[in-house]
Amino acid sequence: MRLVFLGPPGVGKGTQAQLLCKKYSIPQISTGDMFRAAIKEQTELGKKADAILKAGKLVDDSITLGLIKDRLQKSDCKNGYLLDGFPRTIPQAEGFGALLKELHQELDGVISIFVDEAVLIRRLSGRRSCPKCGKIFHLESNPPKKKDHCDSCGEKLIFRNDDKPETIHKRMETYRTLTEPLISYYKKKNLLFEIDGDQLIEKVFEDIVGVLKK
Ligand code: ADP
Ligand code: ADP
Ligand code: ZN
Repeated sequence: MRLVFLGPPGVGKGTQAQLLCKKYSIPQISTGDMFRAAIKEQTELGKKADAILKAGKLVDDSITLGLIKDRLQKSDCKNGYLLDGFPRTIPQAEGFGALLKELHQELDGVISIFVDEAVLIRRLSGRRSCPKCGKIFHLESNPPKKKDHCDSCGEKLIFRNDDKPETIHKRMETYRTLTEPLISYYKKKNLLFEIDGDQLIEKVFEDIVGVLKK
């Protein structure tokens, strides 16, 4: 199964991706996680990406496509994968389309999750994530069992520095101008499944699994 998750920051892509990848035994490929790892390791890419993420802008299409091209050729992608946060622009989607052809692969679907902007802001402000294993929590809707610590590995949870109000607004604007056009792009290709993200995490998951069964 080859899937793409599409939606604004905070809509629940990462949360649902973690559940789905476990269910279908496919890798979750998050370009955001890849950039954050590069920043942490202070690689050349990380040095460039740091300021871009802090500003709520997007990393260059060619750099992002290059990362995905390498990643999709790793052996764990043989039986499929879930792309969480890629493609994020029309040029990325076109580059990805060409890559799929080259690899003789087809996409099974694009899951587009939506909720109102006011909900997104609450979700991002309360988001906490595990820097070690990547598990995602929320202070109110999905709190860890032990305050400030990861349920899975015990690590101390962090607040992402791009989840501050100033950066959130810029990221929303980036989403609307550069990423939202992908909804009609994939609709035209008959690949789009639209999911209401303003429901309990378990219910959103059920809806996604439901459309994938069809
Ligand atoms: P969220 O989960 O809140 O949607 P991500 O973790 O996916 O955010 O992405 C964090 C940041 O990483 C983005 O704001 C952007 O700067 C960068 N990024 C992630 N994916 C891409 C991409 N496909 N193209 C360009 N930049 C990206
Ligand atoms: P994205 O990857 O799209 O940026 P996340 O999966 O990181 O979104 O979710 C953003 C925040 O919202 C996290 O704190 C997460 O725990 C919380 N969250 C995700 N889905 C739901 C939901 N259905 N209801 C309430 N909170 C949610
Ligand atoms: Zn953890």
